Amino acid sequence: MTTIDETAAVKPLEFAVTRNLQAVAPERRAEILTNPGFGTTFTDHMVDLCWSTGGGWHRPRVQPYGPISLDPAAAVLHYGQEIFEGIKAYRHADGSIHTFRPDQNALRLQRSARRMALPELPVEYFIQSLKELIAVDGGWVPSGEDQTLYLRPFMFAKEAFLGVRPAQKVAYYLIASPAGAYFTGGVKPVSIWLSEDYARAASKGGTGAAKTGGNYAASLLPQSEASANGCDQVVFLDPDRNVEELGGMNVLFVKKDGTIVTPSSESILPGITRDSLLQLAEDRGHTVERRPVSLAEWREGVASGDIVEVFACGTAAVVTPIGTLKGEGFEDAQPQGELALSLREELTDIQYGRREDRHGWLLRLDA
Ligand SMILES: *Cc1c(COP(=O)(O)O)cnc(C)c1O
Repeated sequence: MTTIDETAAVKPLEFAVTRNLQAVAPERRAEILTNPGFGTTFTDHMVDLCWSTGGGWHRPRVQPYGPISLDPAAAVLHYGQEIFEGIKAYRHADGSIHTFRPDQNALRLQRSARRMALPELPVEYFIQSLKELIAVDGGWVPSGEDQTLYLRPFMFAKEAFLGVRPAQKVAYYLIASPAGAYFTGGVKPVSIWLSEDYARAASKGGTGAAKTGGNYAASLLPQSEASANGCDQVVFLDPDRNVEELGGMNVLFVKKDGTIVTPSSESILPGITRDSLLQLAEDRGHTVERRPVSLAEWREGVASGDIVEVFACGTAAVVTPIGTLKGEGFEDAQPQGELALSLREELTDIQYGRREDRHGWLLRLDA
Protein backbone atom coordinates (compact mmCIF):
# COMPACT_ATOMS: atom_id res chain seq x y z
CA MET A 1 0.00 0.00 0.00
CA THR A 2 1.22 3.50 -0.76
CA THR A 3 1.72 5.90 2.11
CA ILE A 4 -0.33 9.05 2.01
CA ASP A 5 1.45 12.39 2.20
CA GLU A 6 -0.89 14.40 4.41
CA THR A 7 0.65 17.69 3.31
CA ALA A 8 0.22 17.07 -0.42
CA ALA A 9 -2.52 19.14 -2.02
CA VAL A 10 -5.51 16.99 -2.99
CA LYS A 11 -6.15 17.08 -6.72
CA PRO A 12 -9.72 18.08 -7.59
CA LEU A 13 -11.75 15.17 -8.94
CA GLU A 14 -13.20 15.10 -12.44
CA PHE A 15 -16.82 14.03 -11.95
CA ALA A 16 -18.54 12.23 -14.81
CA VAL A 17 -22.00 13.77 -14.99
CA THR A 18 -24.98 11.79 -16.27
CA ARG A 19 -28.11 13.91 -16.36
CA ASN A 20 -31.40 12.46 -15.18
CA LEU A 21 -33.64 12.35 -18.25
CA GLN A 22 -36.62 11.70 -16.01
CA ALA A 23 -35.99 14.66 -13.74
CA VAL A 24 -39.03 15.97 -11.89
CA ALA A 25 -40.75 18.71 -13.91
CA PRO A 26 -40.19 22.25 -12.57
CA GLU A 27 -43.92 22.73 -11.82
CA ARG A 28 -44.09 19.48 -9.85
CA ARG A 29 -40.86 20.35 -8.03
CA ALA A 30 -42.28 23.76 -7.08
CA GLU A 31 -45.32 21.96 -5.70
CA ILE A 32 -43.14 19.60 -3.62
CA LEU A 33 -41.08 22.53 -2.32
CA THR A 34 -44.15 24.29 -0.93
CA ASN A 35 -44.49 21.52 1.66
CA PRO A 36 -41.50 19.16 1.51
CA GLY A 37 -41.81 17.53 4.95
CA PHE A 38 -38.63 15.72 5.99
CA GLY A 39 -36.70 12.91 4.37
CA THR A 40 -39.38 11.61 2.02
CA THR A 41 -38.62 13.20 -1.35
CA PHE A 42 -35.22 13.27 -2.99
CA THR A 43 -33.62 15.37 -5.68
CA ASP A 44 -32.98 14.19 -9.25
CA HIS A 45 -29.33 13.26 -8.81
CA MET A 46 -26.82 11.72 -6.44
CA VAL A 47 -23.05 11.78 -6.22
CA ASP A 48 -20.90 8.74 -5.65
CA LEU A 49 -17.27 7.78 -5.32
CA CYS A 50 -15.60 4.39 -4.97
CA TRP A 51 -12.69 3.47 -2.79
CA SER A 52 -10.58 0.36 -2.78
CA THR A 53 -7.35 -0.65 -1.10
CA GLY A 54 -4.69 0.04 -3.65
CA GLY A 55 -6.98 2.12 -5.89
CA GLY A 56 -7.84 4.83 -3.37
CA TRP A 57 -10.75 7.15 -4.23
CA HIS A 58 -11.87 6.79 -7.82
CA ARG A 59 -14.81 6.89 -10.27
CA PRO A 60 -16.37 10.17 -9.16
CA ARG A 61 -19.86 10.40 -10.62
CA VAL A 62 -22.96 12.51 -10.63
CA GLN A 63 -25.81 10.30 -11.75
CA PRO A 64 -29.60 10.07 -11.67
CA TYR A 65 -30.95 9.39 -8.19
CA GLY A 66 -32.01 5.78 -7.92
CA PRO A 67 -31.58 2.38 -6.27
CA ILE A 68 -28.09 1.10 -5.53
CA SER A 69 -27.26 -2.38 -6.70
CA LEU A 70 -25.41 -4.33 -4.00
CA ASP A 71 -24.11 -7.87 -3.76
CA PRO A 72 -26.12 -9.70 -1.06
CA ALA A 73 -22.78 -10.45 0.61
CA ALA A 74 -21.86 -6.73 0.84
CA ALA A 75 -20.25 -6.34 4.26
CA VAL A 76 -22.47 -3.41 5.30
CA LEU A 77 -25.56 -5.64 5.19
CA HIS A 78 -23.99 -8.07 7.66
CA TYR A 79 -21.63 -6.15 9.91
CA GLY A 80 -22.96 -2.60 9.72
CA GLN A 81 -19.75 -0.90 8.60
CA GLU A 82 -21.40 2.42 7.75
CA ILE A 83 -21.15 6.13 8.62
CA PHE A 84 -23.05 9.24 7.60
CA GLU A 85 -23.36 13.00 7.95
CA GLY A 86 -26.17 15.52 7.96
CA ILE A 87 -25.71 19.06 6.64
CA LYS A 88 -27.98 21.61 4.99
CA ALA A 89 -27.99 24.00 2.04
CA TYR A 90 -29.67 27.37 2.61
CA ARG A 91 -31.03 29.72 -0.03
CA HIS A 92 -30.31 33.37 0.68
CA ALA A 93 -32.59 36.25 -0.28
CA ASP A 94 -30.44 36.98 -3.38
CA GLY A 95 -30.96 33.41 -4.58
CA SER A 96 -27.43 32.20 -3.79
CA ILE A 97 -26.94 28.82 -2.08
CA HIS A 98 -24.75 28.35 0.98
CA THR A 99 -23.85 25.63 3.42
CA PHE A 100 -22.70 25.85 7.01
CA ARG A 101 -19.28 24.75 8.32
CA PRO A 102 -18.85 21.89 5.82
CA ASP A 103 -15.22 21.47 6.90
CA GLN A 104 -16.50 20.41 10.32
CA ASN A 105 -18.80 17.77 8.84
CA ALA A 106 -15.96 16.56 6.60
CA LEU A 107 -13.61 16.24 9.57
CA ARG A 108 -16.26 14.46 11.62
CA LEU A 109 -16.86 12.03 8.74
CA GLN A 110 -13.11 11.33 8.86
CA ARG A 111 -13.23 10.70 12.62
CA SER A 112 -16.25 8.42 12.20
CA ALA A 113 -14.37 6.63 9.40
CA ARG A 114 -11.36 5.99 11.64
CA ARG A 115 -13.55 4.45 14.34
CA MET A 116 -15.45 2.26 11.88
CA ALA A 117 -12.32 1.19 9.98
CA LEU A 118 -13.45 2.97 6.81
CA PRO A 119 -11.22 5.11 4.58
CA GLU A 120 -11.02 8.83 5.26
CA LEU A 121 -12.54 10.96 2.53
CA PRO A 122 -10.38 14.07 1.98
CA VAL A 123 -12.13 17.27 3.13
CA GLU A 124 -11.74 18.67 -0.41
CA TYR A 125 -13.62 15.73 -1.92
CA PHE A 126 -16.40 16.05 0.63
CA ILE A 127 -16.87 19.72 -0.21
CA GLN A 128 -16.56 19.07 -3.93
CA SER A 129 -19.32 16.44 -3.70
CA LEU A 130 -21.67 19.06 -2.19
CA LYS A 131 -20.87 21.54 -4.96
CA GLU A 132 -21.30 18.93 -7.69
CA LEU A 133 -24.75 17.99 -6.43
CA ILE A 134 -25.84 21.62 -6.10
CA ALA A 135 -24.57 22.28 -9.65
CA VAL A 136 -27.21 19.88 -11.01
CA ASP A 137 -29.88 20.04 -8.28
CA GLY A 138 -29.60 23.65 -7.08
CA GLY A 139 -33.21 24.19 -8.13
CA TRP A 140 -34.21 21.88 -5.28
CA VAL A 141 -33.02 24.28 -2.57
CA PRO A 142 -36.29 25.78 -1.32
CA SER A 143 -36.66 29.47 -0.56
CA GLY A 144 -39.44 29.38 2.04
CA GLU A 145 -38.95 30.37 5.65
CA ASP A 146 -36.90 27.84 7.61
CA GLN A 147 -36.73 25.56 4.55
CA THR A 148 -33.50 23.88 3.48
CA LEU A 149 -32.11 21.21 1.23
CA TYR A 150 -30.96 18.51 3.65
CA LEU A 151 -27.75 16.88 2.41
CA ARG A 152 -26.98 13.33 3.45
CA PRO A 153 -23.43 12.11 2.74
CA PHE A 154 -22.80 8.46 3.69
CA MET A 155 -20.21 5.75 3.26
CA PHE A 156 -20.44 1.99 3.53
CA ALA A 157 -18.59 -1.29 3.05
CA LYS A 158 -19.67 -2.74 -0.27
CA GLU A 159 -17.14 -5.55 -0.62
CA ALA A 160 -18.82 -8.93 -1.09
CA PHE A 161 -17.08 -10.88 1.67
CA LEU A 162 -18.44 -12.57 4.78
CA GLY A 163 -15.12 -12.64 6.60
CA VAL A 164 -14.85 -10.18 9.45
CA ARG A 165 -12.31 -7.46 8.66
CA PRO A 166 -12.41 -3.92 7.30
CA ALA A 167 -13.85 -3.96 3.78
CA GLN A 168 -11.46 -3.39 0.90
CA LYS A 169 -14.18 -1.86 -1.27
CA VAL A 170 -16.19 1.09 -0.04
CA ALA A 171 -18.70 3.50 -1.53
CA TYR A 172 -19.33 7.15 -0.66
CA TYR A 173 -22.66 8.66 -1.70
CA LEU A 174 -24.35 12.01 -1.36
CA ILE A 175 -28.11 12.35 -1.65
CA ALA A 176 -30.32 15.34 -0.91
CA SER A 177 -33.85 15.87 0.32
CA PRO A 178 -35.78 19.15 0.56
CA ALA A 179 -36.85 19.86 4.13
CA GLY A 180 -39.59 22.07 5.49
CA ALA A 181 -39.58 23.93 8.78
CA TYR A 182 -39.09 21.27 11.47
CA PHE A 183 -41.72 22.87 13.65
CA THR A 184 -44.84 23.94 11.87
CA GLY A 185 -46.62 26.59 13.87
CA GLY A 186 -43.62 27.68 15.95
CA VAL A 187 -41.00 25.92 18.04
CA LYS A 188 -42.65 23.88 20.76
CA PRO A 189 -41.00 22.22 23.79
CA VAL A 190 -40.60 18.44 23.61
CA SER A 191 -41.07 15.83 26.29
CA ILE A 192 -38.15 13.52 27.04
CA TRP A 193 -38.22 9.97 28.37
CA LEU A 194 -35.33 8.90 30.59
CA SER A 195 -34.12 5.52 29.39
CA GLU A 196 -33.01 3.41 32.37
CA ASP A 197 -32.61 0.08 30.59
CA TYR A 198 -30.83 0.88 27.34
CA ALA A 199 -27.73 2.63 26.02
CA ARG A 200 -27.24 3.90 22.46
CA ALA A 201 -23.51 3.18 22.59
CA ALA A 202 -21.00 1.91 25.14
CA SER A 203 -19.76 4.66 27.44
CA LYS A 204 -16.08 3.72 27.15
CA GLY A 205 -14.34 2.59 23.99
CA GLY A 206 -17.60 2.35 22.06
CA THR A 207 -18.92 4.06 18.95
CA GLY A 208 -20.92 6.87 20.56
CA ALA A 209 -18.78 9.63 19.04
CA ALA A 210 -19.05 8.17 15.53
CA LYS A 211 -22.02 9.03 13.35
CA THR A 212 -22.82 5.45 12.47
CA GLY A 213 -26.07 3.67 11.73
CA GLY A 214 -25.68 1.12 14.53
CA ASN A 215 -26.02 3.77 17.21
CA TYR A 216 -29.33 4.74 15.66
CA ALA A 217 -30.48 1.12 15.41
CA ALA A 218 -29.69 0.77 19.12
CA SER A 219 -31.79 3.85 19.90
CA LEU A 220 -34.98 2.67 18.18
CA LEU A 221 -36.25 0.35 20.93
CA PRO A 222 -35.75 2.94 23.71
CA GLN A 223 -37.35 5.51 21.39
CA SER A 224 -40.40 3.24 21.12
CA GLU A 225 -40.41 3.00 24.91
CA ALA A 226 -40.39 6.81 25.02
CA SER A 227 -43.37 6.95 22.65
CA ALA A 228 -45.22 4.31 24.69
CA ASN A 229 -44.74 6.61 27.68
CA GLY A 230 -46.14 9.57 25.80
CA CYS A 231 -42.78 11.23 25.18
CA ASP A 232 -41.34 12.71 22.00
CA GLN A 233 -37.69 11.76 22.54
CA VAL A 234 -35.43 9.65 24.72
CA VAL A 235 -32.40 10.75 26.76
CA PHE A 236 -29.60 8.32 27.53
CA LEU A 237 -27.50 7.97 30.68
CA ASP A 238 -24.06 6.43 31.05
CA PRO A 239 -23.49 3.72 33.69
CA ASP A 240 -22.47 6.43 36.22
CA ARG A 241 -25.85 8.08 35.64
CA ASN A 242 -24.37 11.00 33.75
CA VAL A 243 -26.52 12.52 31.01
CA GLU A 244 -25.38 11.68 27.48
CA GLU A 245 -27.66 12.97 24.73
CA LEU A 246 -30.98 12.38 23.00
CA GLY A 247 -29.56 10.00 20.42
CA GLY A 248 -29.75 12.52 17.60
CA MET A 249 -29.46 15.79 19.48
CA ASN A 250 -27.09 17.17 22.12
CA VAL A 251 -28.38 18.56 25.43
CA LEU A 252 -27.58 21.92 27.03
CA PHE A 253 -28.43 23.34 30.45
CA VAL A 254 -28.61 27.05 31.22
CA LYS A 255 -27.82 28.05 34.80
CA LYS A 256 -29.24 31.00 36.72
CA ASP A 257 -25.92 32.87 36.39
CA GLY A 258 -25.96 32.45 32.58
CA THR A 259 -23.43 29.60 32.47
CA ILE A 260 -24.22 27.00 29.82
CA VAL A 261 -23.30 23.43 30.69
CA THR A 262 -23.25 20.56 28.21
CA PRO A 263 -22.35 16.93 28.81
CA SER A 264 -19.00 15.89 27.49
CA SER A 265 -17.77 12.32 27.15
CA GLU A 266 -16.45 9.96 24.52
CA SER A 267 -19.87 8.34 24.14
CA ILE A 268 -21.52 11.56 22.92
CA LEU A 269 -21.61 12.67 19.28
CA PRO A 270 -20.03 16.15 19.22
CA GLY A 271 -22.62 18.23 17.37
CA ILE A 272 -21.67 21.10 15.09
CA THR A 273 -24.91 22.89 15.97
CA ARG A 274 -23.98 22.67 19.65
CA ASP A 275 -20.46 23.90 19.00
CA SER A 276 -21.80 26.84 16.98
CA LEU A 277 -24.47 27.80 19.54
CA LEU A 278 -21.87 27.68 22.31
CA GLN A 279 -19.56 29.92 20.28
CA LEU A 280 -22.39 32.45 19.81
CA ALA A 281 -23.15 32.26 23.54
CA GLU A 282 -19.49 32.83 24.41
CA ASP A 283 -19.47 35.81 22.06
CA ARG A 284 -22.33 37.20 24.15
CA GLY A 285 -20.29 36.73 27.33
CA HIS A 286 -21.76 33.45 28.58
CA THR A 287 -19.43 31.00 30.32
CA VAL A 288 -19.50 27.54 28.75
CA GLU A 289 -18.71 24.30 30.55
CA ARG A 290 -18.20 21.01 28.72
CA ARG A 291 -18.13 18.39 31.46
CA PRO A 292 -20.03 15.41 32.87
CA VAL A 293 -23.53 16.32 34.12
CA SER A 294 -25.20 13.81 36.41
CA LEU A 295 -28.93 13.13 36.34
CA ALA A 296 -28.96 14.29 39.99
CA GLU A 297 -27.41 17.64 39.02
CA TRP A 298 -30.09 18.06 36.35
CA ARG A 299 -33.07 17.15 38.54
CA GLU A 300 -31.82 19.01 41.63
CA GLY A 301 -30.86 22.02 39.52
CA VAL A 302 -34.36 22.25 38.11
CA ALA A 303 -35.93 21.72 41.53
CA SER A 304 -33.81 24.43 43.18
CA GLY A 305 -34.12 26.91 40.33
CA ASP A 306 -30.38 26.82 39.58
CA ILE A 307 -31.14 25.48 36.10
CA VAL A 308 -33.37 27.93 34.25
CA GLU A 309 -33.55 26.37 30.79
CA VAL A 310 -32.89 23.00 29.14
CA PHE A 311 -32.71 22.46 25.40
CA ALA A 312 -31.51 20.11 22.71
CA CYS A 313 -29.89 20.88 19.38
CA GLY A 314 -28.86 19.31 16.09
CA THR A 315 -28.84 20.11 12.38
CA ALA A 316 -32.34 18.79 11.63
CA ALA A 317 -34.37 20.69 14.27
CA VAL A 318 -31.67 23.32 15.10
CA VAL A 319 -32.90 24.02 18.66
CA THR A 320 -35.65 22.30 20.63
CA PRO A 321 -36.59 23.43 24.13
CA ILE A 322 -37.17 20.55 26.54
CA GLY A 323 -40.50 20.93 28.31
CA THR A 324 -40.70 17.77 30.39
CA LEU A 325 -38.37 15.07 31.70
CA LYS A 326 -40.25 11.90 32.48
CA GLY A 327 -38.95 8.64 33.92
CA GLU A 328 -40.08 5.58 35.87
CA GLY A 329 -42.16 7.13 38.66
CA PHE A 330 -41.50 10.83 38.09
CA GLU A 331 -42.26 13.71 35.79
CA ASP A 332 -40.34 17.00 36.08
CA ALA A 333 -41.59 20.08 34.25
CA GLN A 334 -38.61 21.93 32.82
CA PRO A 335 -38.22 25.69 33.17
CA GLN A 336 -38.67 27.73 29.99
CA GLY A 337 -36.35 30.62 29.16
CA GLU A 338 -35.44 32.88 26.28
CA LEU A 339 -31.85 31.91 25.56
CA ALA A 340 -32.44 28.81 23.42
CA LEU A 341 -34.74 30.61 21.02
CA SER A 342 -32.59 33.71 20.89
CA LEU A 343 -29.49 31.64 20.03
CA ARG A 344 -31.57 29.73 17.49
CA GLU A 345 -32.58 32.97 15.82
CA GLU A 346 -29.00 34.25 15.71
CA LEU A 347 -27.73 30.98 14.23
CA THR A 348 -30.44 30.70 11.58
CA ASP A 349 -29.98 34.40 10.71
CA ILE A 350 -26.33 33.63 9.93
CA GLN A 351 -27.23 30.49 7.98
CA TYR A 352 -29.78 32.30 5.82
CA GLY A 353 -27.51 35.31 5.29
CA ARG A 354 -29.66 37.69 7.33
CA ARG A 355 -26.85 38.52 9.76
CA GLU A 356 -23.12 38.98 9.43
CA ASP A 357 -21.17 35.71 9.27
CA ARG A 358 -18.41 36.94 11.56
CA HIS A 359 -16.87 33.51 12.11
CA GLY A 360 -16.66 32.70 8.39
CA TRP A 361 -18.95 29.69 8.79
CA LEU A 362 -20.74 29.87 5.43
CA LEU A 363 -19.52 28.39 2.17
CA ARG A 364 -21.19 29.29 -1.09
CA LEU A 365 -22.06 26.15 -3.05
CA ASP A 366 -23.41 27.53 -6.32
CA ALA A 367 -20.38 29.49 -7.48
C1 LIG B 1 -25.73 14.23 14.14
C2 LIG B 1 -25.95 13.98 15.58
C3 LIG B 1 -26.08 15.01 16.51
C4 LIG B 1 -26.13 16.48 16.12
O1 LIG B 1 -25.01 16.91 15.44
P1 LIG B 1 -25.08 18.20 14.51
O2 LIG B 1 -23.72 18.31 13.93
O3 LIG B 1 -25.40 19.34 15.39
O4 LIG B 1 -26.15 17.95 13.52
C5 LIG B 1 -26.21 14.69 17.85
N1 LIG B 1 -26.21 13.40 18.25
C6 LIG B 1 -26.09 12.38 17.38
C7 LIG B 1 -26.09 10.99 17.89
C8 LIG B 1 -25.96 12.64 16.03
O5 LIG B 1 -25.86 11.61 15.18
